[in-house]
Amino acid sequence: MPIYEYKCSNCGHFEQKQSMKDAALTNCPTCDGPVQRLISKTIGVVFKGSGFYINDSRSNPNPAKDNPAS
Ligand SMILES: [Zn+2]
Repeated sequence: MPIYEYKCSNCGHFEQKQSMKDAALTNCPTCDGPVQRLISKTIGVVFKGSGFYINDSRSNPNPAKDNPAS
């Protein structure tokens, strides 16, 4: 089961193991704050193009640091 990385605006970075069929988390399981899913580092799972950004998230001054283009 792949592990997805999320960034919580309150708790910071965490990982969540979930099925590929499951919808992305929108709220932190710890504090229920808004979370943003990051690019998975699981080999074999490739997200092309569109980023995963929560609609109601505040504008993020920091661009994604986990740039897969390397
Ligand atoms: Zn949290």
